[in-house]
Amino acid sequence: MARSILLLRSAPAAPVRGGRARTDAVVRLGAGSLLWLSLLLVTYWWVAAGGVQDLGSWESGLLSAGRISGLVASDLLLVQVLLMARLPLLERAFGQDRLAHVHRLVGFTSFDLMVAHVVLIVWGYAGGSVPHIPAETWRMTWNDPGMLIAVAGTLCLVMVVVTSIRAARARLRYESWHLLHLYAYLGVGLALPHQLWTGTDLVGSTGRTIFWWSAWAVTAAAVLVFRLGVPAWRNLRHRVHVTSVVAEGDGVVSVHLGGRNLHRLRAEAGQFFVWRFLAGEGRTRGNPYSLSAAPTHESLRITVKDLGDQSGRLKELAVGTRVLFEGPFGRLGDRARTRDRVAFIGAGVGITPLRALAEGMAYAPGEAVMLHRYRDRPLMQLELERLSDQRGLELLWLPGTRRSDRSWLGGHVGSADDLTALTSWVPDITERDVYVCGPTVWTAQVVTTLRAAGLAPDQIHLESFSW
Ligand SMILES: Cc1cc2nc3c(=O)[nH]c(=O)nc-3n(C[C@H](O)[C@H](O)[C@H](O)COP(=O)(O)OP(=O)(O)OC[C@H]3O[C@@H](n4cnc5c(N)ncnc54)[C@H](O)[C@@H]3O)c2cc1C
Repeated sequence: MARSILLLRSAPAAPVRGGRARTDAVVRLGAGSLLWLSLLLVTYWWVAAGGVQDLGSWESGLLSAGRISGLVASDLLLVQVLLMARLPLLERAFGQDRLAHVHRLVGFTSFDLMVAHVVLIVWGYAGGSVPHIPAETWRMTWNDPGMLIAVAGTLCLVMVVVTSIRAARARLRYESWHLLHLYAYLGVGLALPHQLWTGTDLVGSTGRTIFWWSAWAVTAAAVLVFRLGVPAWRNLRHRVHVTSVVAEGDGVVSVHLGGRNLHRLRAEAGQFFVWRFLAGEGRTRGNPYSLSAAPTHESLRITVKDLGDQSGRLKELAVGTRVLFEGPFGRLGDRARTRDRVAFIGAGVGITPLRALAEGMAYAPGEAVMLHRYRDRPLMQLELERLSDQRGLELLWLPGTRRSDRSWLGGHVGSADDLTALTSWVPDITERDVYVCGPTVWTAQVVTTLRAAGLAPDQIHLESFSW
């Protein structure tokens, strides 16, 4: 605890507000436009190749509908992979939780279209007659070029999608689900050859050939560079290792990390990394933990609650343990900020990135307020009180178990509803950027109150500790 207190430093300089948030908004708009443009292009090529006329009769109609659903499914499948390829521009503009959300939407849409493609194409080649479908499926699988591996690819994608359905995912341990999810790359890779060997819509013209080959090449390169190359290079360059492990109480430990030229990571307070601690069982498993103090040239700190195997073994880490990392990730910080006044609302271990923000962000005394929800004992109380003394951070301790399932507040607030309580504590809440972190259901309730108070979506910045 004593060593953690020494982390507090003088106030950082005030940057210009909103510039990066505006850039990110432009990047999001650009990314969305590119996606729609690519979908329009493949649809235009389908129309130009007579796709609409072909819908005029049953058999050719099935094949034509099968072709367009296959084209759109392929386009979205590549977008799917790009969304999780850790492209810095997208990571900065969207943040990983929003990318994961879009990834889920695009994933299920491309899968449904892929299934439609398979059914319609086989049905069409079966002369539009259902009884002939099994025989045609067999014939195509064993005779058409690339079809056998396309079937294997489809089965991989079926397994990935089925295990990602919430009900199925809830039954799987995170690491089992994650391992199965990696088969998505194999599935996408195996689906490619049949497209290029039999997909007349893909290679029927120079323009189409260049489009699809470039799309595949860019996606493959993005995965190799940003999911493998960049992390490998950063870990070689920074050589991160454990310098100390400090118990914070209630099953929570702080892990202090050292390394070379850490400032070159350009990590910011509020961000998180995916960490792999190279000791003991589970060394290959990566877990996301946020920085719990503003990063410095020579040190990083995370603070973790024991919630399972991985988080539980951090307390046993030895000094000097090598650490592999991916990141920094996340937009919970100055990057998304649009106003001078800020509020931090955190529950339990969710206070960790907010404590880092309260240290790393620029604000004048009185411009920042922190609401700390906790059951029995607040986390990092001494550090927060020091920050309050040094930086003029206003602190509001909100103890107790939740007063009801519909409220994010504890019993001590009496009968006032969440909105009344919040606006009485922070009357100018609508003039602030609000950073919220905690369990998913709790953060959703805080957001409901903030929206009811009249905050715009770009004023509310979230980090949920479970995806
Ligand atoms: C962006 C982000 C930042 C986080 N920052 C912190 C932090 O600063 N301090 C802290 O105490 N906790 C943090 N967490 C939560 C932390 O990652 C999980 O508690 C931890 O991964 C649990 O792993 P486990 O093996 O101990 O438990 P398990 O029993 O395996 O899992 C417990 C829960 O954690 C989820 N989980 C497990 N592994 C992962 C993973 N690799 N990625 C995402 N979720 C996983 C599971 O779905 C399950 O709901 C953060 C989570 C996210 C998504």
